[in-house]
Amino acid sequence: MDIIYLNGEYVSKSSAKISIFDRGLLFSDAVYEVISVINGRLIDMDRHVSRLERSLGELSINASADWSAMSRNLVAQNDLQEGVVYLQISRGVMDERDYRWPSPDTAPTIFAFAQPRVLVANPMADRGMTIITRPDLRWQRCDIKTTQLLYASLMKMEAMAAGVDDAWMAHGDMITEGTSQNAYIISQDGVLISHQLDRRILPGVTRIEMLEQAKLMELTIEERAFSIDEAKNAAEAFVTSSTLLVMPVVEIDGHRIGDGRPGEKTGKIRQNYLAAVQRASSTTN
Ligand code: PLP
Repeated sequence: MDIIYLNGEYVSKSSAKISIFDRGLLFSDAVYEVISVINGRLIDMDRHVSRLERSLGELSINASADWSAMSRNLVAQNDLQEGVVYLQISRGVMDERDYRWPSPDTAPTIFAFAQPRVLVANPMADRGMTIITRPDLRWQRCDIKTTQLLYASLMKMEAMAAGVDDAWMAHGDMITEGTSQNAYIISQDGVLISHQLDRRILPGVTRIEMLEQAKLMELTIEERAFSIDEAKNAAEAFVTSSTLLVMPVVEIDGHRIGDGRPGEKTGKIRQNYLAAVQRASSTTN
């Protein structure tokens, strides 16, 4: 995975350099996307592009490029079969550190790289994830995919220190999402509950296709916040993200979910999700 993209050129990792006055470094003034690659194909690229363009728009960062072609080139040049492509766009480089933005015609800094990773045969899908809950102390615009990830990273480390896989964050008692995944439960009467799209969560690309598949399975879907207690008493729980796809959760704050094994409906949703995105990607890129 030696070839990366930086500001219009494909170069080797070791020769890629950016300025220490880049606003991405000094202010996290940058947005990003992570796109999964399965069988050498980008999954759901168009939805990633839409979300990227929305994130850029919300922050008034002027950047345009053929994001799909850039990602496809990286997959091809690095011969990536399974893993992710990471794209990042910052507002660009300042003359000196300053809270004020540089002039709007400052060139953004654009870079992208590919990383191999096991997605489909992830053994976690067989054992399920364990989760702790923590307060959601992130800023109030979690709908924008910025590189401001320090709080999520701290919570991930707290999860590791507690001997579990990840953390779900909550405002008061109400779960918002995982450190880098959207969070769901399936209630004892079979209703799939997913936090509504608002400023408290990232509108996951995986969430969109997962919900499509759940609808095809005729599951009832409620888009609303759910409480920590509701989650602990759920029949099933799971997360979605471009790297975990659809991943079962089997324990929350030490409470077993269902019988402590990955849920049946979750397993079926994961299977159907994978079949659908692979079908779609084979015809679109
Ligand atoms: N929520 C957060 C906070 C995330 O960081 C991510 C992915 O990085 C997601 C949800 C899932 O989004 P997607 O399915 O687009 O990968």
